[in-house]
Amino acid sequence: MHVVDLIAKKRDGFALSQNEINELIFQYTNGQIPDYQMSAFLMATYFQKMTDEEATYLALAMRDSGDVIDLKAIPGIKVDKHSTGGVGDKVTLILGPLLASLGAKFAKMSGRGLGHTGGTIDKLESIPGYQVELPVEQFIEQVKTIGIAIVGQSGDVAPADKKLYALRDVTATVDVIPLIASSIMSKKLASGADAIVLDVKVGHGAFMKTEDEAIKLAELMVAIGRLAGKKMTAILTGMDEPLGHKIGNALEVYEAIETLKGKGPKDLVDVTVEIGAHLLMDAKLAANMQEAKDKLHQALSDGRAYHKFLELVKAQKGDVNSIQNPESLLSENTIPVLALTSGYLLDINALDIGRAAMRLGAGREKKEDTILFDVGIDLHKKIGDYVNKGDKLATLYVRNKGIEEAKELVLKGITIGSQKRNLLLIRKTIK
Ligand code: URA
Repeated sequence: MHVVDLIAKKRDGFALSQNEINELIFQYTNGQIPDYQMSAFLMATYFQKMTDEEATYLALAMRDSGDVIDLKAIPGIKVDKHSTGGVGDKVTLILGPLLASLGAKFAKMSGRGLGHTGGTIDKLESIPGYQVELPVEQFIEQVKTIGIAIVGQSGDVAPADKKLYALRDVTATVDVIPLIASSIMSKKLASGADAIVLDVKVGHGAFMKTEDEAIKLAELMVAIGRLAGKKMTAILTGMDEPLGHKIGNALEVYEAIETLKGKGPKDLVDVTVEIGAHLLMDAKLAANMQEAKDKLHQALSDGRAYHKFLELVKAQKGDVNSIQNPESLLSENTIPVLALTSGYLLDINALDIGRAAMRLGAGREKKEDTILFDVGIDLHKKIGDYVNKGDKLATLYVRNKGIEEAKELVLKGITIGSQKRNLLLIRKTIK
């Protein structure tokens, strides 16, 4: 195989065979193909795209470049979810214990945050002592005994994707639907679950800004998963405003705890229950969506989901006391942000709010940055609420970093106008 021929083939709009894609990925991962040739191939793909078959071959080749976790030792149907990333998205922290409290097996490998979106592993690390790294045998044993484990991605999952993603990042080739779909699915397929629900975010706080793009991405990921033998569902959910009220690591743990106790904000509960209902049916623990939703609401209101979260934290050596007193996790220094005019909230730009939290220290600009767990933003209003001039729009939880910039970003991100705007949160389901 000559790499230059494959680049030319893609440049001219032809589809590559499975063998050609396998070779390309194998040789690139082994260092036999230089970055300049792979960059040319990525740019050709940017313009010519890929067929669904090519994207599937790419996902499979990247999956097979590293460890594929075997969860067969855990009896029953193993379930997983993935979000394409948003602001205030703490669904995994609630969904995992909730599903496990109803008998599902939730063996989850999560990521860290980068840029304006947060990551589940950083959120869990805001709980003192919580161990995000477990040996695979212990991970499996924990899911067998308590139904849930949430750990960081092991170093060897889809290394080809890691290398390729870093190259895409610096060659302006991230934004290509078949490359995004195969990147996400390579890691999902490597983590071993039987049924997967993808939460594809759409809106200004998300990767996909329009519904058409989000549908294309969702359909392709569902097709890839299905061809690889997984039970797949994708739901399109709005990221027009942050999910829930709280943004920042410990603040999101705080809101997850409230939700697990049956006191969560409506949008957060609705997205969690929608994803959970599909997974409960996939796990054969409910006969239809209505029954599944009723069971999920019941486990949130009767304390079962919260107790499962305590079990999870205890099993992974986290400080259970801090879960029972979650205000102890938050910075004691707070600053209010007040409304400058009266009216209805028309927009809460999730990107601006995510950036504001990042300036306070809740997120990383670069991979190696350290984060402050106890800072962030509590938004007191949602789109459609009415405010009077001088009302508290948000509370910033701060240390001594980025306060003025964050305040400006929050004010810039919130638009107040004269009309009440209604949002559609759950936009579409793709099976
Ligand atoms: N997330 C991923 O894992 N890969 C992409 O390509 C984009 C988002």
